[in-house]
Amino acid sequence: MRYLIFSDIHGNLEAFDVLLRFAAKKKIDHYVCLGDLVGYGASPNEIIRKIRTLKPLWVVRGNHDKAVSGQESIETFNPIAAAAIRWTQKTVTKSHAEFLNKIPRGPRSVDGLFTICHGALFDEDYYIFGEFDADEAFDYMPTPLCFFGHTHFPFLYARKGEHVTGEYMDGGETERKLEKGVAYLINPGSVGQPRDRNPQAAFAIFDSDRQTIRFYRAPYDIAAAQKKIHKAELPPALAERLAVGI
Ligand code: ZN
Repeated sequence: MRYLIFSDIHGNLEAFDVLLRFAAKKKIDHYVCLGDLVGYGASPNEIIRKIRTLKPLWVVRGNHDKAVSGQESIETFNPIAAAAIRWTQKTVTKSHAEFLNKIPRGPRSVDGLFTICHGALFDEDYYIFGEFDADEAFDYMPTPLCFFGHTHFPFLYARKGEHVTGEYMDGGETERKLEKGVAYLINPGSVGQPRDRNPQAAFAIFDSDRQTIRFYRAPYDIAAAQKKIHKAELPPALAERLAVGI
């Protein structure tokens, strides 16, 4: 089985369309979304509509999905993120808001093969940054393989015995073979708002038969996404950051 693993789309239709075009050319059996469908970008309805058509789909909610659907207070967000959430709340259709509201919280098990969450297994809003966080997260893993999002950085953490290593997957197409006896905690990066100074959309494919994970980066029409953000009168900083990948 081939699983397309993606996260943090954040209402960026131009980036998501590139991912869908890519998926159409590959043999994808399952779609796995690690949350934050909306927030920041100017196309929340289009993203939700397209994600709802993906089958079979495994999805967990992100903190922006929760905030837009009113399950979390906007107070925890910085002013720019909060402004985008208020704009998204006004913009999403009732049916799409209901869909967001019903997205399950992580962690979730996928086919008994691996586990998915937005932030961490012990707290869906926790950011796993670095080996210290990863080490704690490994203790909660019900399967030797877990995918997470939320940080917008493509990363592969591995624990062999007591030893934890972290590898930043720094762009380009990169494949890693998963070894037996090693636990993995993997972030595919962000589709719609990468923050690792590489502005290209990030995602990954997990092949369960070959036991490989392959990371991808894909260019997309950033100027078009920026134009929509300006037209929607969202904070201009949200457009600027897309060009530099922060
Ligand atoms: Zn996010």
